[in-house]
Amino acid sequence: MRRLVAGNWKMNGILAEAMQFVEELGDNPAPEHVEMALMPPFTLLHPLKEALSAKGIALGAQNVYFEPKGAFTGSISPLMLRDAGCHYVILGHSERRNIIGETDDVIRTKLQASWATGLEPILCIGEHLKEREAGKTNAVLKRQLAILEGTDSGLPLTVAYEPVWAIGTGHTATTDQVTETHAFIHEELARLGRPHCRVLYGGSVNPGNAESLMACPGVEGALVGGASLKADSFMEIVQAAARAAA
Ligand code: PEP
Repeated sequence: MRRLVAGNWKMNGILAEAMQFVEELGDNPAPEHVEMALMPPFTLLHPLKEALSAKGIALGAQNVYFEPKGAFTGSISPLMLRDAGCHYVILGHSERRNIIGETDDVIRTKLQASWATGLEPILCIGEHLKEREAGKTNAVLKRQLAILEGTDSGLPLTVAYEPVWAIGTGHTATTDQVTETHAFIHEELARLGRPHCRVLYGGSVNPGNAESLMACPGVEGALVGGASLKADSFMEIVQAAARAAA
């Protein structure tokens, strides 16, 4: 399975910055065995479509609405994302769960709508620090993954384990924590009929820690926030993924 290194730009980036980023990536940025993807803000999807596809980089969105069209002011539909060239869509990111209040039920509806339009969801799951400290990590992850119960296991899916306490904080999970938690997630995914589902790690991944994190058993890539905003640090993480895969 090819490792995926996906950059989540969150609410960052204007056109000139995006174009400079793409230029700085060079001509053939993706090494063998590593797939690259970028999730810029909605406003940059159409302008980046051609430039990224020319470099073999997949495009994704950070969110989607579950209705196909209509009177939903401010929302973007799965079909609009496909039209803009998206292959991936991030669902259930902790910032949407915690700031916007997205529930597992809403995320399940978005998952179905994304699949119905041919998008591959990257489903983010992860526990809060208090939950980890209380020994509830596996129970939280099991609950978040339960939205896959009864879904068609032939539909494409990537899962990203992102401990909430590690996102944007500089506090990365230890390799022991990552190994142990990914083992549990893979076990749970197998129980849900998805034994081969790709699972990424996310949470303060940077060029200095990327290789050791991606060398952990059960880690098949990374979802990268802050360190994906600069082409050089993003590329260093991509190279680290290639070394970890070798
Ligand atoms: C993220 O936004 O998914 C993320 C992991 O952010 P960061 O790498 O900045 O912690």
